[in-house]
Amino acid sequence: MEWTKRFRKALTFSYDDGSEQDIRLAALLNRCGMKCTFNLNSGLGSGDVWEYKGCPVRRLDLPACREVYAGHEIAVHGARHLALSSLDPEALHQELAGDKARLTEIFGTAPVGMAYAYGDCNPAVTEKARSLGLRYGRGVWENHSFDPQADLLAFRPTCHHDDAQLDALVTRFLASEPETPQIFYIWGHSYEFDGNHNWDAFERVLDRLAGHDDIFYGTNREVLL
Ligand SMILES: [Zn+2]
Repeated sequence: MEWTKRFRKALTFSYDDGSEQDIRLAALLNRCGMKCTFNLNSGLGSGDVWEYKGCPVRRLDLPACREVYAGHEIAVHGARHLALSSLDPEALHQELAGDKARLTEIFGTAPVGMAYAYGDCNPAVTEKARSLGLRYGRGVWENHSFDPQADLLAFRPTCHHDDAQLDALVTRFLASEPETPQIFYIWGHSYEFDGNHNWDAFERVLDRLAGHDDIFYGTNREVLL
C-alpha cells in the first residue's frame, strides 16, 4: 500500500473470465485513467462460448490479446474455471499452479493474486493459493465497506457494479475526507454490461469517479499489497 504515502482514498476494479467484452471495458477504463485487475482462465480458449441473457459471450484468445490488457493487472481465476473447494489436491494444484504458470508465460509477469471462480473457496484452497505465492484472493460477497481488510486471501469487494447501492457508495466515497486509507473495490464481468444493456450507466459512474486528485487509481496489486 505504497499509495497511502500520498493518498487516503483508492479505487480499483476486478473483472473476471476474459470475455471479448473486456476489450470495451479496458478501453473505457483507459479513457478514465483507471486500473483494473483481470482474472483469467488460461486453459479455456476462444472456443468456449456461452450466452448471458441472450447475448453471446466468447472468451478471448489470450496469447493474441495481450495488448487489450496493457497497463492493467492479470490475476489467476483457475485454468478451467472450476469450483475449487470440490477438487482433490492434485486437481487443485493443476487449476491454480497451472493457471499461474500459463498466465506468466503469456503476459510475462507472474500473477500475485486471484479471484475464486464462483466465489468458491475453503481453508485448503486459500492455503494452496498462499503456497503458490498468491497474496490476495477475491470472493463475491460484497461488504459495502471501504475499510482495508486484514485477510487478503478472503477479500470481500465493496460491491458488484450492479449493486443497488452503487450510486450511494460513489457519493459517500467522493464526499469522504478520511483520516485512514479507504479502498473502493468494484467487481463484475464485462459481458454483464451487454446482457443488462447498462454500459451507459456504468460509464456515468466512472465519469463521476474519474479525475479526482485525492484518489489513487490502481490495480488490485497496487492497492491491496
Ligand atoms: Zn468467473
